[in-house]
Amino acid sequence: MQNTTIAYDSKVEGEIIVTQADAVINWIRKHSVWPMPMGLACCAIELMAAGGARFDISRFGMEVMRFSPRQADCMIVAGTVTYKMAEVVRRIYDQMAEPKWVVAMGACASTGGMYRSYATLQGVDQIIPVDVYVSGCPPRPEALLDAMIKLQDKIGTERSVNNLFPKKADSKEVAGATKGS
Ligand code: SF4
Repeated sequence: MQNTTIAYDSKVEGEIIVTQADAVINWIRKHSVWPMPMGLACCAIELMAAGGARFDISRFGMEVMRFSPRQADCMIVAGTVTYKMAEVVRRIYDQMAEPKWVVAMGACASTGGMYRSYATLQGVDQIIPVDVYVSGCPPRPEALLDAMIKLQDKIGTERSVNNLFPKKADSKEVAGATKGS
């Protein structure tokens, strides 16, 4: 049989499709990502554009931007993260339910960008785990969409059945760590 997550055999009575729990759960999750728009600076304008008719993030089932962290599962950090805001970003991330993912949009969110100063965090991955980084200053909306597709690919490979139950030791509590590291 071909190595695939879905198997179909018409000879089986009732035409049953056989698959894996991981494949079903991941398929549902990756097509219903609800972003938490953490707009902190100019990159947020490009994030807003991605939601408009021209770029239309709803093609990927991601148009439901939630401003309540408890209703969101993907934080898109768009903009410069100052130390003043870092605590807020971390608190909102903590309030999001598992499973959750993070996209660092733009040079500032990824590395601090041009702001190598006492006031700016040199990358949001110092306080929360980042799944996908987007380069650019600012990245275009297409770059964000590309990142979201990469995130979908990543979600598709996760061991979701394991994630259905609370973890004993949460590796994401470690500052600067990334998922799966
Ligand atoms: S990466 Fe550029 S466009 Fe984005 S927040 Fe920083 S300075 Fe602004």
